[in-house]
This record gives sequence, C-alpha cells and structure tokens, in this order.
Amino acid sequence: MAYDDNNVFARILRGEIPNDTVHEDDQVLAFKDINPQAPVHNVVIPKGRYTGLNDFAENATDAEIAAWVRGLAKAAKETGVAESGYRVIVNSGADGGQEIDHVHGHVMGGGPMGPMVAKG
Ligand code: AMP
Repeated sequence: MAYDDNNVFARILRGEIPNDTVHEDDQVLAFKDINPQAPVHNVVIPKGRYTGLNDFAENATDAEIAAWVRGLAKAAKETGVAESGYRVIVNSGADGGQEIDHVHGHVMGGGPMGPMVAKG
C-alpha cells in the first residue's frame, strides 16, 4: 500500500487539522484521540511517512522506532497514567481494525482497561 499524504494524521502533522497535543519532539507527535474509548486516550505517531506497523517495522530507522516507543511512554506520563497503568494498542490492517493508514499507537488508561479483546 502506498502512503496517502491526505490521511488524517498526515494532515495533522502539516497543521491542516488541529490537535490536542500531549507530547511532541522532532520524531513523534502525541495527541488526544478525538473519540476517546477510555478516560485517557492518546494517539502517538511517528512523523515519518509509514502506512502501518508492517511498513514501520520494515522501513523505519532504529532511531525512529526507538523514538516512537519512547513517545508512547511519554504520552502516558504526560497524561498522568504512567504510574496507575495503561494499555497500548496498535491496530494493523483490516482485521486489526486500522482506520487511518499512518502508523499509530493508542495509549489508553484512567481506569481498569478490562478484558484484552472483545470478539466481533
Ligand atoms: P485506528 O482505528 O487504530 O486507525 O484509530 C484511528 C483513531 O484516530 C480513532 O481512535 C479515531 O478516533 C482517531 N481520530 C480520527 N481523527 C482524529 C483527529 N482529527 N484527531 C484525533 N484523533 C482522531
């Protein structure tokens, strides 16, 4: 799959769509999910053009991957759930429920996250 420069997260990175930033550095942007599924729900994206986890794992530099993993934990810290606990979800492809084709992690917390998956 080719990267689409008009996906929502690409537009957020260009400043064309506003976001509620919780952490930003030269490699990563983390912001509040517009449709939160938990009391705390952040989306953490690398700034590079990667469609999903497969593309990111195969083609990103080690530095980009490390920065994104650190960004996940920084988002948790900045939104107050680092100590109480949180869940990281990466949806990949159709069966994974990925809706936006720019690799991203969900950082969710603020209360017990419940069973790991709901089928269906
Ligand atoms: P996924 O299903 O893993 O691709 O997740 C995409 C996520 O992006 C969903 O949780 C959406 O609520 C979220 N989302 C979509 N548009 C925006 C936006 N403009 N700002 C913040 N989050 C968004």
